[in-house]
Amino acid sequence: MKISCDRLPRIYVTLMSWVLLTPVLISCTEINIKSSPTDSGISATVTPIVKARSGNAKVTTAAINSRTPTQQTAQTDELEDTGDILIFHNPVKDETYQEVHEIIQDSQIFEEIAQTLNELLILPNDIPTYFMECGEENAYYDPSTVEITMCYELIERYKEIFTEEVETDEEYIAEVVNAGLFTFFHELGHALVDQLALPITGREEDVVDEFAAIILLQAGEEGENAVLSGVWQFAVDAEEEAELEELTYWGEHSLDIQRYYNMACLVYGSNPEKYQFLVENEDLPAERAEGCEYEYAQKSQSWEVLLSPYYKE
Ligand SMILES: [Zn+2]
Repeated sequence: MKISCDRLPRIYVTLMSWVLLTPVLISCTEINIKSSPTDSGISATVTPIVKARSGNAKVTTAAINSRTPTQQTAQTDELEDTGDILIFHNPVKDETYQEVHEIIQDSQIFEEIAQTLNELLILPNDIPTYFMECGEENAYYDPSTVEITMCYELIERYKEIFTEEVETDEEYIAEVVNAGLFTFFHELGHALVDQLALPITGREEDVVDEFAAIILLQAGEEGENAVLSGVWQFAVDAEEEAELEELTYWGEHSLDIQRYYNMACLVYGSNPEKYQFLVENEDLPAERAEGCEYEYAQKSQSWEVLLSPYYKE
C-alpha cells in the first residue's frame, strides 16, 4: 500500500523535481553504499496501528509557546503565514571556500527548496538561512534569532571526500550540493520544531535527522542520493569519532555510528527491494533491517501528522 498522506508526498516530489543530480557511486573502506541504478516509486506499508494513531493525533502548542518571548510561535487555532524561509549567500574571505560558495549559489537549489516550502507551509516568522564562512566546520539553528547558519567549512569537508571519484562536472556539482542538503534539512527540522512548537518526544537531534531523511527520501532519486550522502557523512564522522576515541555517550546527538545506522534503516525501510544491497553488504544488519519498513512508515506518517496543520489550503 502506498502512503495515503495528503499533501506531504507532493511537497517532497515538487521539492526536488528540478534537480540535475545524478546517481553517484559512494564507497568506503569499511562501509559500501551504492546508489542503485534502478528507479522505482516510493512505497511503504502503513500499518493499521499507525493509521489509527494518526487519526487521533492533534497538535497542541499551548504548553510550549512561551519559550521565545521575542518571537511569535505558531498556534494551530490562529494560523497566519507571516514568515518565509530566506536564503543568503555571504561572500567568502578565504579562497578555499570560493568554489563551494559559487556552486551552491549558482545552483539555486536552496532558493528553489525555500520557495516550494514557502508556498506550502504556514510559518510565523522568517527563517533566514546564511551560507557563510564560520571559522569552523559547523551548521546550526539559533532559536533566539530564528536563523540557520550553514558553514562553508562543513560543506567543503564533505565535498573533498565525495568528489574524489566523480568523473563529470555534473556529478561534481551534484556532490557539492548533496554535501549540504542533508544538513540543511536537519537544521530546518530544528527550525520547524521550534517555530511551529511541534510536540516531539525523544531526542530532538534524532527527530530532525529523521525529518531530513524522510523529506529527502520522498523527493525522488535525487533526494535519495542526498540521503545516501548524509548516511555516508555519518559513516565518515563515525570513523573519525572512533579513531579519536571521542565517544560522547552523554551528548545530545546519538553517536555518529548510531546516526549512520538509523539513517541507513530509513533508507532501507523506504524501499527494501531497491536497497536490499544494504543488507546484503552488511551495511545494515539483518536484525535491524527487519523493522525498518515499519519504522519508515511510522515516522513519515508522524511527520505528516505534525506538519499537516501548517499546510496552506
Ligand atoms: Zn542538530
